[in-house]
Amino acid sequence: MDKIKVSLLGSTGIVGQKMIKILENHPYIDLVKVSASAPKAGKEYEKSVSWVEPGSIPEKYKNLKLVSTDPQDHKDVDYVLSALPPEAAEEIELKLVKNGINVISNASPYRMDKNIPLIDPELNYDHLNILEDRNTKFVKNPNCTSSIMAMPLKTILSSDVKSISLVSMQAVSGAGYNGLSYMAIDDNIIPYIHGEEEKIPAEISKMLGMANNNEIKSRPINMSVTSVRVPVKVGHMGVMNVEFNKKIDLDELKNDMRNFKPLSKFNDLYNAPENPLIVHEEEDRPQNKMDTVNGMEVHTGRFSYKDNTLRFVILGNNLVRGAAGITVLTLETMKQMKLI
Ligand code: NAP
Repeated sequence: MDKIKVSLLGSTGIVGQKMIKILENHPYIDLVKVSASAPKAGKEYEKSVSWVEPGSIPEKYKNLKLVSTDPQDHKDVDYVLSALPPEAAEEIELKLVKNGINVISNASPYRMDKNIPLIDPELNYDHLNILEDRNTKFVKNPNCTSSIMAMPLKTILSSDVKSISLVSMQAVSGAGYNGLSYMAIDDNIIPYIHGEEEKIPAEISKMLGMANNNEIKSRPINMSVTSVRVPVKVGHMGVMNVEFNKKIDLDELKNDMRNFKPLSKFNDLYNAPENPLIVHEEEDRPQNKMDTVNGMEVHTGRFSYKDNTLRFVILGNNLVRGAAGITVLTLETMKQMKLI
């Protein structure tokens, strides 16, 4: 079978580099083109990137010449994967789609458009079905915090939930390679991340909503969020309080989380973790240093339940589960759903 040919926009950024590593040995996705901002077009990848990923640049990509974001440069690939910043993505991605080029994107513009699926595969791969009759496919992946914090919610929302309150402690890499200066974040905590507290509940409501008549209807969820930036390189942690209308059985809930394996019906999902939700019983887990290594699992722990309120901690790798990993997993899932 022919491999799926992809190009990568934003390939020199922090998410783009992670995507390059994930695609390096992929059995059926072939990264054939890389792109960055206009001044770098025509230059070699190796000479144009400030490489920050562990390990070195994969040999096979080092000498690739960066292409532009213009549709002409992407006509011969099956999919464009985008890790562009939002300001650039808005116009560039739409232009590609209008020119008949399929796009899966990490950037925020159009995430809340009801005609465009917002996909974190384990949560809502079924939303991809709205693309079935479309000649050109445009898919969005959620914000890094939304994708991580939403993972335990499908199980939780099967009970009668009154309200959810989340405090997210987000790593510096979530702001991109040039996002925050060392002086701003060293020895510091910043109690505000622009736009985040509105984005997270809105995106989670859409992902956990219903696909119907070619569009997505968000599920109303009573959720409030406080987001802070912490001096950690990788890994977004959240403390979630969930108030239920009725008593729940905590052990049963934890078992349901352990058994949450909605993608097990598909074969050959190279980036799907066997257990997307890890439930820790140790008092001092999950931790960034130990539990963001593989990257696609979401880790939970510190469960307590009192007066109908559940409190627990969630942790995930913002660059993998929150961005590059889900983009690739979305493409793999689309192939298994015969949408490609
Ligand atoms: P980043 O490190 O700032 O990288 C941005 C990339 O886009 C670079 O390759 C840059 O190329 C390229 N670029 C910038 N302006 C461009 C333009 N006008 N035209 C073409 N290419 C341009 O950002 P990132 O953290 O990788 O994030 C990428 C996207 O993923 C953003 O939309 C972000 O919100 C989203 N996201 C990030 C995370 C995360 O944890 N970091 C998680 C989820 C989603 P040059 O090298 O030439 O500047």
